[in-house]
Amino acid sequence: MMLDRVAKIIDVPPHAINLLRHPEREVSLTINLRVSEDKLVQTNAYVCFYNTVRGPAKGGIRFHPEVTLLETRKLAELMVWKTALVGIPFGGGKTGVAIDPHQLTRAEKTALIKELVHLIRHELMLGDYIPAPDMGTDARDMATIFGETHNLESVTGKPPRVGGLPGREEATGRGVAQSTKLLSQKYDLKPQKTTVAIQGFGNVGSWTGYFLHQQGFKVIALSDIGTAIYNPDGLNIPALKENYSVRGQPLSEAHRGQKIARDELLELNVDILIPAAAGGVITTHNANKIKAKYIVEAANNPITEEAELILKDKQHIILPDILANAGGVVASYVEWRKARSGSLTPREETYNVVDNVIESAFNNVMNLSDEFNVDYRTAADIQAIREVVSTMEDRGWL
Ligand code: NAD
Repeated sequence: MMLDRVAKIIDVPPHAINLLRHPEREVSLTINLRVSEDKLVQTNAYVCFYNTVRGPAKGGIRFHPEVTLLETRKLAELMVWKTALVGIPFGGGKTGVAIDPHQLTRAEKTALIKELVHLIRHELMLGDYIPAPDMGTDARDMATIFGETHNLESVTGKPPRVGGLPGREEATGRGVAQSTKLLSQKYDLKPQKTTVAIQGFGNVGSWTGYFLHQQGFKVIALSDIGTAIYNPDGLNIPALKENYSVRGQPLSEAHRGQKIARDELLELNVDILIPAAAGGVITTHNANKIKAKYIVEAANNPITEEAELILKDKQHIILPDILANAGGVVASYVEWRKARSGSLTPREETYNVVDNVIESAFNNVMNLSDEFNVDYRTAADIQAIREVVSTMEDRGWL
């Protein structure tokens, strides 16, 4: 457990540990909705408000068939640490809906999002929970939420024309690329000579690839749910991205490279591996076969605790999710602030904020790692827990 690991290194008041071991509140919902004439959706959804000492619960909405209450809770907790690490005034929350979004038409998905808004209307209207996109949801879904609440502050990740922020869509990938660049500089890796494999080519994976390609890194392998492609000379990421996300072609039809088995990507002989799809993809079954020296966690929780022990033994260097993928929530904060003030923010400014906040969090983590002689995940957790506990003290919670 992360709390126990950190409490062995720094003093964490026992009352804070008691509070942080459990979510403040969580709701388990049964959805029963006729989405169209001949289709009834019956499924479960979970909303977790893990901790709000630093601000309203912030966290994405995930549509995935295997979502559970436990997974939603873990993701909500992760948001507590992520927002604290990068110093933005939000707490941690998350929503999980156990459904495969690919089985829904756009109209059916919209109906489901509206039903979800109906079920958590109170929290959304009061600003107690501020959602954003996560796996299986996108800017259009956030626009639907805005349409239901008529409140620009109630949701982030909206399309720029619907009160959204230019650059928010790219922001998570932008932050992953920025932290990968900083890590490469620290270990003296030259982009042109550094090979990268990215698992997942959705929002986060494709933008990460795009910005790394722009910086000159050699992205030589990519995968999505169906397949993986590989080209040792480097893939043309902007062209692939255009074919995949704009023209909707599957990776296999859009590639100029060799097709490989989907999960083979994780075990390729590359310098940097970036899991940017689901959680729990590096397990005790494949940890021993991972060859990449550096792993940058673009996805949330991509490495199981047991697998991490194996990787540590093998001297892999892991840049943790709460640092690597925090760019999205940083941009969400800028979007939320913009909704309150009515100001306009150009795309370049969003990029600059993400780059600067990630750089400053990266430097903090490196310093703490040296100071306590711990790995980067533990260093990031130390910084995050200190922030949360200090706020609890400021608010008289302890
Ligand atoms: P997305 O739905 O846009 O894309 C997911 C991608 O992963 C798709 O290309 C899908 O085909 C692929 N995929 C799924 N299972 C796979 C598998 N087993 N092997 C290979 N590819 C697989 O989701 P996203 O928003 O890009 O989120 C990806 C990850 O990043 C998630 O873990 C999410 O929690 C995390 N994250 C997202 C954001 C954000 O702003 N969207 C922010 C922080 C963290």
